[in-house]
Order: sequence, then structure tokens, then C-alpha cells
Amino acid sequence: MKDQIAALGYDYGAQAIHRPAECNLCGATGRAVVLAQRDRYGYPAIFVVCRRCGLGYLCPRLSATQYAHFYSEVYRPLVSAYHGRRIDAETVQLEQHGYASTLAAFLLPLLPSSPRTILDVGGSTGVVSKVLAERLHAGATVLDPCPGELSVARAAGMETVAGLVEDFDPGERTWDLVLLCQTIDHLLDVRGTLAALRQMLTSDGRAFVDIVDVDVLLRRTGSIERVVKIDHPYYLTRPTTVALFALAGFAIVAERVTDDGHRGFVLAAGQRAEPDWLALEITAAQFLSTLSARRAGELG
Ligand SMILES: [Zn+2]
Repeated sequence: MKDQIAALGYDYGAQAIHRPAECNLCGATGRAVVLAQRDRYGYPAIFVVCRRCGLGYLCPRLSATQYAHFYSEVYRPLVSAYHGRRIDAETVQLEQHGYASTLAAFLLPLLPSSPRTILDVGGSTGVVSKVLAERLHAGATVLDPCPGELSVARAAGMETVAGLVEDFDPGERTWDLVLLCQTIDHLLDVRGTLAALRQMLTSDGRAFVDIVDVDVLLRRTGSIERVVKIDHPYYLTRPTTVALFALAGFAIVAERVTDDGHRGFVLAAGQRAEPDWLALEITAAQFLSTLSARRAGELG
């Protein structure tokens, strides 16, 4: 695995020089503590956690331009090398079919009315939106930075938009169902994107967002270095995600945790609200002490 990753010749350490000025959740500066200096691929990724709110993120990280290059050229070959099997636009569709069926079974009974329009942010080849659109007789729009994967969605009859959601300007347009599937951890601005998605939701619409729950994954893998990966600028837990939803004006309607450690939320439009910052700081301190204890255990 290490040899195959080395063969890609991707020099992450030389490229990742963008330093987020502040915490994306609470806005704190100078409160981040370094908890890992290597990711699961062996790249020198610096993982930090904000002491004030518990948000985990990479600092420094790739810039937006570098991430665009990363997704079009490096990402699929890298995960292929890591897993020791081919992962591309074709194989991704098979995996997404399984994901889409499970999501449809969970999500569709929870929708108050039949959505006519779907926006799938980070929708890749459009498999998930296609399954949902067919079941709901709705039209789907797929937004993704990877043109190769979008071409599959376009061939299947979906509207496609190439680019990062952070650069997407829909004007006044809104959708009945907004999906952010296995994508939030890849965003460059989680707080700004959630606020934007809230604006893109019709008044009685629903959103579905799932996170890789770092608490769940850490319990399973036992090591933060196996959780950190350069493709994820952000590392969320249930408390930090709930805080981000409150700030964006989303109300949680339903929730699930899947076997692979993804925690999914069905959301409705709600009122913007300040999170309980003190509670977040306490949770952050617990998270930091858990990681320190693990580290001491590994060293001992
Ligand atoms: Zn913070």
C-alpha cells in the first residue's frame, strides 16, 4: 500500500500551505492544538482540534485550487492505492447504488410531501440523486468538482454543475430536497456552505447531511492517525455538527448511524441559534483528554 501511494508521486507536504485564519465553527483564533502529524496514507497532515468548540480540522491544508487539482487528478488513484483495488467513476457507481437504496429506505418515509426538485451537492456520478429522483418522480441537479464523474450524471439525464459548492451561486433558485451525502467532511467552509444550503431550501423542504463521526471512528480504529486523511479538511462529531446546524438555521428531524460510522441527519428549515459554547468547550476538553490518554497508551 505504501509503495503504491509513493508511486503516485504526490508531494502533499510541499503543497499544503493554506492556514485557515480561524476556527470554521466558533471563529476562535490561536485555540487549536495539534493532535496528529501524519494521516492514514502516510502524508504529513497536521490535524488540530479547537479547544473552544471541539472542531477538528487540517491546518495547514491545501488551498481551494490545490483541492480542485487533487480531486480531478489524485483522489481516486490515491484511495485505489490505499484500498488495493481500482476505485473510479465506474466502481464508485456500484458502491453508491448500495448507499442510495439504504438512504431511500430511511429518508423517503420521513419526507412530508413529495419533493419535485433535488439538489445533490458533491453528487459525483449522480447515482444517489438518480435513485431518489426516480422514486420521487423529481428532477435532479448534481453539483460536483469532478467533470469526469459529472459526465456520467449528465448522460443519465440529470442537470449538472461543475465546481465547488463554495463557488456555486444559484441566485434565487431553491430545491425541495438538498443532499450533502458523504461530502461535508470534504468542504473547505462548512459553516458558510450550510448557511448557503439553508437559503437554497424551499420553506417546507428537507435536507439530508451525513458526517463521518470522528467519535465513532476513533472508538473503532483506536488511532487518530487512521482517521485523519488529506481528503477531509474537517472532522466532525455529533456535538460540533449540531452546533453547525443551529448556526445555519437547520432543525434536526431525524437521525441515523450506519455500520461504516456515518451519522446522517434529516433537516428542516429552522431558526438560526447560537450553540451552547460552554457545553462545546467541555465536550472538546473530554475529546482532547481521550486522545491524549490513547496517545500515552500507544507510547507506553
Ligand atoms: Zn472552534
